[in-house]
Amino acid sequence: MKFEVSVLDWFAKLWEIEKNEYWGYVTTGGTEGNLHGILVGREQLPDGILYTSEDSHYSIFKIARMYRMRCVKVASLISGEIDCAQLETSLLANKDKPAIINLNIGTTLKGGINDLDLVIKTIDKCGFTNDQFYIHCDDALFGIMLPFMKQALRISFKKPIGSVTISGHKFLGCPSPCGVLITRLKYINAFSRDVDYIASRDATITGSRCGHAPVFLWYALTIKGLTGLENEVHNCIFKARYLLNQLRGAGIGAMLNEYSNIVVFERPLDDNFTLQSLCIAKDVGSRNCACSIHKLSRNY
Ligand SMILES: *Cc1c(COP(=O)(O)O)cnc(C)c1O
Repeated sequence: MKFEVSVLDWFAKLWEIEKNEYWGYVTTGGTEGNLHGILVGREQLPDGILYTSEDSHYSIFKIARMYRMRCVKVASLISGEIDCAQLETSLLANKDKPAIINLNIGTTLKGGINDLDLVIKTIDKCGFTNDQFYIHCDDALFGIMLPFMKQALRISFKKPIGSVTISGHKFLGCPSPCGVLITRLKYINAFSRDVDYIASRDATITGSRCGHAPVFLWYALTIKGLTGLENEVHNCIFKARYLLNQLRGAGIGAMLNEYSNIVVFERPLDDNFTLQSLCIAKDVGSRNCACSIHKLSRNY
């Protein structure tokens, strides 16, 4: 309990929300955080439409099906980030319904970062007032990385967002799946239920939870510290840029988004080579430096 609160306070501070204004918990991972964040949004805006880009993590589409929500898939730019012009068109086409927007802060395949500020401007421009939209930030991938890069997008509850989630076993390297979800306390009061059997109020997705997860998270944050995390982030970015340059130098088409450590390169025609390069990529990157090989067209 103490470990969990300490971990949540760490993230509340990172995402600029007062201790008495946030509610959160240690989850089983990014998927549960998405399940929770989107559920809070749905409870706030029961007939809201879920908007998410085509590059979103598969959990988002699964969640839309589970909750039987109408889901509008918005096109992405080549970088993987949401196309705000398309978002605007979709929002205007459905102006009679509130909007629940999932934003990928780092798409799983390309590391494309949705521009939260531009999305907020777009919603505004479409005439949605603060009580007509809800933004959930799927920060599973880059949640720990972006805060350590000065020019990068800032995730903050000072902006009109409803919830944020991260995965603890990705950049932080926790040994078993875990994550964190933070939302605004005011939403949770309407949402939680008294449960006699556990003599407590419940507002989580799962019932029993893993007691080790908060300890793993607390340990990772404490042992690395802000400086350790910052160094690791810069190291990963440096290695990703190195890999990009080496690939390009070898005549292989490759791309790397700014503030991302995911190097995307064309799929070699030879499957054996693909396997080998995956091994090399894993060597070049540290444990945390994700390198992805995807089936992309060769004209990148
Ligand atoms: C990994 C990932 C998730 C899911 O997280 P799990 O911890 O595997 O449940 C969700 N969204 C994005 C963008 C991810 O990269």
